[in-house]
Amino acid sequence: MSKTKGMFQKMENDHHFDIYKRYSLTLVKGSGSLVWDEQGNEYLDALAGIAVNNVGHCHPKVTEAIREQAGKLIHISNLYYSEPQSRLAELLTGMSGMDRAFFCNSGAEANEAALKIARKHGNLKGKKGPILSMDNCFHGRTFGTIAMGKAKYSKSFEPMPSGFDRVPVNDLNALESAMNEDTIALFLEPILGEGGVVPVDTAYLKKARELCDKYEALLIFDEIQCGLGRTGAVYAWMHSGVKPDILTTAKALGGGFPIGATLATEAAASILSHGEHGTTYGGNPLACAAAVAALNVIRDEDLAGQARIKGEYMVKELRERTEGWDTVKEVRGTGLMIGVELTFKGAPVVEKMLEKGVLSNCASDTVMRLLPPLVIRQEEMDRLLDVLLDSIRECGSLVGETPQAEQ
Ligand code: PLP
Repeated sequence: MSKTKGMFQKMENDHHFDIYKRYSLTLVKGSGSLVWDEQGNEYLDALAGIAVNNVGHCHPKVTEAIREQAGKLIHISNLYYSEPQSRLAELLTGMSGMDRAFFCNSGAEANEAALKIARKHGNLKGKKGPILSMDNCFHGRTFGTIAMGKAKYSKSFEPMPSGFDRVPVNDLNALESAMNEDTIALFLEPILGEGGVVPVDTAYLKKARELCDKYEALLIFDEIQCGLGRTGAVYAWMHSGVKPDILTTAKALGGGFPIGATLATEAAASILSHGEHGTTYGGNPLACAAAVAALNVIRDEDLAGQARIKGEYMVKELRERTEGWDTVKEVRGTGLMIGVELTFKGAPVVEKMLEKGVLSNCASDTVMRLLPPLVIRQEEMDRLLDVLLDSIRECGSLVGETPQAEQ
């Protein structure tokens, strides 16, 4: 038994803001798709730090790049140039198909920069607004991003900034009637993550591009969760060929190290001028060195290709093995962004999987969301499938029998 058992959990419970509902698990090390707790128990990570560890935990190339850069130069501010930021800007624009990059520290911040570009664009064009987003979307926890998202995350913090409105996803008629000359921007995740792993149809994306062009509105894709190889393409826009004016990215960008980026076409990037946006830490040498290493791994190990093949296997197995189950409504997925929609609330399934040594997650109450590292091995996928299906079977059989399972 570890001497520290429970010690860190108590320290955190006593001193951290009480805002996270955590599992009683203190993790101390990770490698590939596996992590270990302080007692040495091994867990298969089917969540990858919420779509962050695409290259796996502590990928040796990322760890080495961080070690090396930390011994050279950690931070300098954006008053000066640095080699890692220059290299990252070139590599990331090349891999994403966008023209320019702005670096920050998180997904929400990347979206805030996109919102500022959008607002200035609207002001320059004399538009009244709004900025449109999708029902059930999630873009972060800052004021601008909660103003776009679900009421659940904004209701305690009103008044919200004005000038935002939402449309239902994949409803072409609703999109057409919501957009006009005053629309400033359309903000969307090509696959809604927190919203329950809901892919946006290609026809909808094409219509979105067409309407944005017609009304001179900016098309903004939030690829913070679905980007960087996760869906079987380096960025999800590449599946449909519908290219946004602005693309936001974060999570997996630093291979686990915090960094975000707002990527834009030349025209959209040029909307902001000197002094109108910035950040102290954004694009610091250490974060950029980690991101350069992570991007090289994604490219050199063809993690997008791996995600496509592995995702196809997982979805096929899940569909075949749950056929006829009245507890599973739908299995959907693109690459290794997979949702298994249940007919009951998934929280007990997550608990059950944890008992069986697998870290998982449930989005939108009923959708088991699988986001494993893209380097997950065949035997780990099979273990994940067995544990998930056993857990659904065990929890599903309780639905209706105990008050707790019905919550
Ligand atoms: N956008 C999407 C699609 C996300 O899934 C998230 C986080 O889950 C964010 C934005 C916010 O990113 P961060 O938590 O790094 O601010």
